[in-house]
Amino acid sequence: MRGILIRTLLVVLAVLGAGFLLPEPFIVPVQGAKRGSYDQRSFWYYPWGKCVTHKGVDVFAERGTPVLSAVPGIVVFKGHVNMGGNVAWVLGPKWRLHYYAHLDSTCTSVGSWLSLGERLGTVGNSGNAKGKPSHLHYAIRRILPAPWRNTSGPHGTRRMWFVDPTPLLDRATRH
Ligand SMILES: [Zn+2]
Repeated sequence: MRGILIRTLLVVLAVLGAGFLLPEPFIVPVQGAKRGSYDQRSFWYYPWGKCVTHKGVDVFAERGTPVLSAVPGIVVFKGHVNMGGNVAWVLGPKWRLHYYAHLDSTCTSVGSWLSLGERLGTVGNSGNAKGKPSHLHYAIRRILPAPWRNTSGPHGTRRMWFVDPTPLLDRATRH
């Protein structure tokens, strides 16, 4: 019995480890977006209305601009939610969940595999972005928390569940 438990644990650790070892190629998830399309200070910005802190980065573009998968991954959720409007969640390398919100339309389905840069929808202002300039709200969530990321500010303990997308976006828009 104990042997089976240990073996199962080792398999789980191996699968988890393999996920973390996967390379994470990355592109800016809005077609044609440049450094000026997003505000580098917008991640974890406080105050941010009902959300308290802003847990992603807004990439501004005209309505209908293609939204592309920032990483290769599998679509785990697609639907309509109050705040985010039309949204999609994509599980990518390193067990990170990539969140695409305020979409005008989506063109993917749950269970679909998306390659890097594959189109998953279009930029819009659905959900609580209604009446505001169209943009993609893009966030990266962790499945396993990183407590060392906690901050003392508002919503500080939630910070461990999020990755700051800004350095990735900056690197991808450098050239
Ligand atoms: Zn946002």
